[in-house]
Amino acid sequence: MSYVFKPQPAPSVAVKSSKKRFPVHRIYCVGRNYREHAHEMGADPDREPPFFFTKPADAILESGEILPYPQATESLHHEIELVIALGDGGRNIPAKKAKNLIYGYAVGVDFTRRDLQARAKAAGHPWDTAKGFDYSAAIGTIVPAKEAGLGVESAIGLKVNGEFRQTAKLGDMIWTVAETISALSEFYTLLPGDLIYMGTPAGVGAVKPGDVVIGSVQGLGTLTTPIGKPLK
Ligand code: MN
Repeated sequence: MSYVFKPQPAPSVAVKSSKKRFPVHRIYCVGRNYREHAHEMGADPDREPPFFFTKPADAILESGEILPYPQATESLHHEIELVIALGDGGRNIPAKKAKNLIYGYAVGVDFTRRDLQARAKAAGHPWDTAKGFDYSAAIGTIVPAKEAGLGVESAIGLKVNGEFRQTAKLGDMIWTVAETISALSEFYTLLPGDLIYMGTPAGVGAVKPGDVVIGSVQGLGTLTTPIGKPLK
């Protein structure tokens, strides 16, 4: 195969205890999957099925990499999330078989241009500019499922400059991992390499250049994202 110019490199993520990397195919995200966050955003989650949006695969930003403060916003928000990494795919997958697709898990932060999201919501416009911007998908090392040991009591949290802003348990999610994979597979053909950001608990807020964001999920380690100056 030859191309008219060199293709961009394929996005990938480090894997725990491995020199091999996880090749990213697509990034899916779940909206409003924790009740208290849904309430802080003015929604009633109990009446809504899960809904989805996406980020480009090359929005990946690994732990330790600087997130340049993005253009076109004055309100960059953090959203700590559990990330599911798929090692298998399919369509219309029943929830009871969904766990077979999982390769592993990671800590993620769904960075959001909240002011653009608010404008998009008010105008009935898509969320792409609010959610799918450069470096918006922070992710830690992927931990293979058998090593992760996650449960409903596992803590998820996020600190800014050493102070907790978000804390919850994985059992606080409205839609389980299996239910979410099943629901997503009714809209898309899932493939190995897909990532699913599982939604954020309450406590989202703004960050600025110079801040250091540290996300964690018990059993998966931490994800560090320093916020840098805007790109010129
Ligand atoms: Mn989110």
